[in-house]
Amino acid sequence: MSPKLPIYLDHAATTPCDPRVVEAMLPYFTEKFGNPGSRNHSFGWEAEAGVDAARVQAARLIGANEKEIVFTSGATESNNLAIKGAAYMYERAPAGSGRSRGHIITNAIEHKAVLDPCKRLQREGFEVTFLPPGADGVITAEAVRAALREDTILVSIMWANNEIGTISEIPQIGALCHEKGVILHSDGTQWVGKMPTNVARDNVDLLSWSGHKIYGPKGIGALYVRRHKPRVRLNALADGGGQERGFRPGTLNVTGIVGLGKACEIAAAEMDRDAERLLRLRRKLEHAITSRLEVTKVNGHAEKRLPHISNISFGFVEGESLMMAIKEIACSSGSACTSASLEPSYVLKTLGVGDELAHSSLRLSLGRWTTEAQVEYAIENIVAAVEKLRRLSPLYDMHKEGIDLSKVEWAHH
Ligand code: PMP
Repeated sequence: MSPKLPIYLDHAATTPCDPRVVEAMLPYFTEKFGNPGSRNHSFGWEAEAGVDAARVQAARLIGANEKEIVFTSGATESNNLAIKGAAYMYERAPAGSGRSRGHIITNAIEHKAVLDPCKRLQREGFEVTFLPPGADGVITAEAVRAALREDTILVSIMWANNEIGTISEIPQIGALCHEKGVILHSDGTQWVGKMPTNVARDNVDLLSWSGHKIYGPKGIGALYVRRHKPRVRLNALADGGGQERGFRPGTLNVTGIVGLGKACEIAAAEMDRDAERLLRLRRKLEHAITSRLEVTKVNGHAEKRLPHISNISFGFVEGESLMMAIKEIACSSGSACTSASLEPSYVLKTLGVGDELAHSSLRLSLGRWTTEAQVEYAIENIVAAVEKLRRLSPLYDMHKEGIDLSKVEWAHH
């Protein structure tokens, strides 16, 4: 049976809300609408109870204590609070002193929500090392070890990459950071809720994640802030009513928090089953595409990759034409996030994928309700589109005739 169109294969961008999450949230819009900060009546207590329960659900998902969870508006805010909050708190020299304020290590294929706060700190007098990942996209503990300095105050490495799904060596990086007394922040937006996470075992001090990537609502996120060994302190980025232990003042987004909590509870219970099923589907997708189409390449490490994200480059097709030809499949192209821009993805470029190939790359990301029939439809549709486009490509003809295109001297007019 052919699936209903269009098909959503862009779960790394956002996920639909799980109906169980929506159901849990609903009473908090109307009946239990109190402000958790209202300490002297039952409306406030009821809302506070909802927030408290969600804090436990969120903490359990990552093996933390509920006192270590700060609710934010999403992973962007969590990352900003973690990185700038730690940098300002632990700076080695005051701004304007002419001396380095401290050294920070991150890597070149982080999401902009990490890169941009780091660049801002660089402008403000911190020194930042942007580590290049290996060609397979993996960020290793060895690379971090080589970059550590006496004045390093913070390491921020994403747990899994949003474009290619590659997984960093976080537990080993964390062990190294703890050995050297350096704080480790990880952007866990694509990882948490998909793969087993335990901040104690994995040696993470600050961990960001977001509701809308784990079948929860948009505009809500969390930051884990370690309270023991070491006790991490942060400079708050906003001033106000002192909520969230002063880390993030402002009336709590109770409905969002309740939704995030429920999404965390469901993820904890179902992630193993989901991951196993999605890995099977992703392997089927990649195997079919790469075995039926020559000159295609799956980007990132073969094994150290999230089960549900696949990034594939197609030689001899033009990226925009490919996207047009597979309109019924909602996925991301290898162009920058803002698909209006035609900049090839900086992640693929950093991995050494050429501009042309980066443009003709697709990120297909599967999710909780992706079916076998949808994956089969995607395979047939993508294979047919690439074959058709290649039939129109003179370069592909030359390639088939055995001409080495890298040696061709092109005429420039
Ligand atoms: N980090 C990563 C790795 C992401 O994939 C995203 C979402 N694209 C973000 C941060 C930003 O998350 P949010 O939308 O919750 O601010």
